[in-house]
Amino acid sequence: MRVVVVGGGLIGLSIARALTARGVGEVLVLERSSLVSGGTGKSSGIVRAHYGVPSIAAMALRSLPVFEELGAEVGFRQVGYAVLVGDENAEPLKANTAMHQSLGIEVDLIDPAELQAMWPMLNVDDVALASYEARGGFADATQLALHFGRVARDGGARIRQNTPVARVVTTGERVTGVELEGGEVVEADVVVVASGWWSATLLADLGIDFPVEAYRSELLVVDAGEPLPDLPVISDLVSLQYCRVEGAGQFLVGNSDHADFREGLVDPDDYSNIAAPASVEKYAEKVLHRFPGFPDPSVTHTYAGVYDVPPDWNPVIAPVAGVEGLVLAAGFAGHGFKISPAVGDLVADLVLEGDSTDPDVPAADFRLERFAEGRPLVSAHPYVGAGEMR
Ligand SMILES: Cc1cc2nc3c(=O)[nH]c(=O)nc-3n(C[C@H](O)[C@H](O)[C@H](O)COP(=O)(O)OP(=O)(O)OC[C@H]3O[C@@H](n4cnc5c(N)ncnc54)[C@H](O)[C@@H]3O)c2cc1C
Repeated sequence: MRVVVVGGGLIGLSIARALTARGVGEVLVLERSSLVSGGTGKSSGIVRAHYGVPSIAAMALRSLPVFEELGAEVGFRQVGYAVLVGDENAEPLKANTAMHQSLGIEVDLIDPAELQAMWPMLNVDDVALASYEARGGFADATQLALHFGRVARDGGARIRQNTPVARVVTTGERVTGVELEGGEVVEADVVVVASGWWSATLLADLGIDFPVEAYRSELLVVDAGEPLPDLPVISDLVSLQYCRVEGAGQFLVGNSDHADFREGLVDPDDYSNIAAPASVEKYAEKVLHRFPGFPDPSVTHTYAGVYDVPPDWNPVIAPVAGVEGLVLAAGFAGHGFKISPAVGDLVADLVLEGDSTDPDVPAADFRLERFAEGRPLVSAHPYVGAGEMR
């Protein structure tokens, strides 16, 4: 079987790794620029199994051993992961935590005092409850993607960089390959489109609508003014921010307030790579509120990345109806890193078995057609004000 994977990001390389591991002899990854030059290169790399959608929580759980086995090779630091909520979100947190425990995820509810014992400089005045996953933490998306690429190559895959795909080629209702910019045609039995936001353009050429928007997300690196120990990653659903240690004495702060979604839409090939001054002010205020104890905090630098966001903030990982041999794996909306090992395995299942082999990860959840059918993949217990916390 000849498989072409379009996109040399984390997802495309994980898919190439999974396919070669299962004996697919001819796997070719085509990347328009350099490997990890898309969203992967900007990832915060947070690892957790906390999701409101059970199949995605299960994928995160299945992916954890990959981080644990690779450890320092992919920069994995298993510092733990905590979700903080206010009164309004205590019930959804309890319900989601119970769902996680039923899947086998090691997670506990903890009270604000226990949380403060882990992060002594944390202000927990407005925190009603937290959940804590000891197996969570963070790692390096670039290193993980390049690891997948290396394993795929060792398994016989080929990777071509600076090779933009112009279009997917079909004959009747079947895929027959791809045409590169410049006109070369590469024949294939299966084409997997794993090109992030840009996947929509390739599908649109075939008359297929993949509703996905490019949403810019800003990040701050804050110097705490003192050395920091290994502290758990924090997803702060009260102030709508997330924080993790970054090097010694610094921490990375990301925005989880997506109320301004439409204002954040950008051209993913042409966007500002620094946080706007007004955002820096807003985020700094939230950081000072949550961490009042730092002696001399300052913002060292900022940057921005782009999420590929479908209407329900969840990915499509599925064969595309009506075009035999075409598979789409995109729309990870800022949360594809931690599930990327399991995504590769699911795509290998779809290509080789025609269905998911994991009962906790039903393939039907990730169909493209769910948008047109008005059946989005959403949490049964969404967080008030933070519904995108999948
Ligand atoms: C700022 C930021 C923070 C994040 N933080 C986290 C986090 O903490 N935890 C987490 O789980 N996830 C996180 N994510 C999400 C995660 O990093 C992404 O979901 C994941 O890296 C996406 O990988 P991808 O391969 O789908 O896309 P990409 O990395 O965008 O790769 C797509 C590739 O396709 C290529 N391409 C496009 N068009 C073509 C074409 N026509 N021909 C050939 N190649 C093409 C692009 O050049 C690109 O390299 C974050 C993302 C961002 C942006």
